[in-house]
Amino acid sequence: MFMDEIRIKDLEVFANHGVFPEENELGQKFIVSAILFADTRDAGRYDRLTDSIHYGEVCQIIDQHMKEHTYKLIERVAEALAETLLMKYKPLLKKVSIEIKKPWAPIGLPLENVSVKIERQWHTAYIALGSNMGDKTKYLDDAVLALDALKECEVVKTSSWIATEPYGVTDQDEFLNGCLKLHTLFTPEELLEVLHRIEKKAGRERIVHWGPRTLDLDIIFYDDLVYGTERLCIPHVDMKNREFVLKPLCEIEPYMHHPVTGKTVKEMLEELK
Ligand code: ADP
Ligand code: MG
Repeated sequence: MFMDEIRIKDLEVFANHGVFPEENELGQKFIVSAILFADTRDAGRYDRLTDSIHYGEVCQIIDQHMKEHTYKLIERVAEALAETLLMKYKPLLKKVSIEIKKPWAPIGLPLENVSVKIERQWHTAYIALGSNMGDKTKYLDDAVLALDALKECEVVKTSSWIATEPYGVTDQDEFLNGCLKLHTLFTPEELLEVLHRIEKKAGRERIVHWGPRTLDLDIIFYDDLVYGTERLCIPHVDMKNREFVLKPLCEIEPYMHHPVTGKTVKEMLEELK
């Protein structure tokens, strides 16, 4: 509910990151700042450390990770720290900001420091699943397992699988459809690529548009993002016309609002009927 901030400012870590071999051998000072975005309401009300994130432990994790790895770029250091913390402290830690300063950057000119600052967070996406060839149940079940197996993803809810009539091209076998709710660190484009990879592994071949398929995975929502390119459209453009998307989605999230029309999933489903 609340997005409170726990702030760590200017933690000094001696480590060996850098593009030059001398940097990797001799090491140098890095200065790390982190902002942990979490709801601290319960920690504030009940005065319990277990309801919050232990900043001392976070400092230890940062120090240890930076000493155990040798990266070329501070961009990579920041990305690795963000991912490590987001995975370690889910679901309490929603978002993190990491800043890495390099005061001794070997550029041969006087400067105070160079730095990178990034913000990374867990996103919530809804994926529609469909299959109308072969062992449909297994294709859908395996897709859930494949997504959940990725460290950047966690499947948090799944609908039941429902049998539906084909849509668009109607002279084909009936479909099995469902929806799932996903927490992910992937960007929308990365997520689409991952879905395409899982479809491909399930033997999906794109021959007929809307034709028979072993597995179809579509992104329906991604946070409250509104995004459109030739390759990817979010929310899914045709969702309001597809009962086979709205029905299972309504099972897991009936009161979620479409970010453009403001209609709930339940309303969209009722309008379609
Ligand atoms: P459909 O899902 O409409 O039956 P495909 O699975 O063959 O058809 O998708 C065709 C293309 O739609 C994909 O290659 C993808 O680039 C694009 N696309 C656009 N928006 C989305 C989305 N939200 N989710 C998945 N694919 C999308
Ligand atoms: Mg698709």
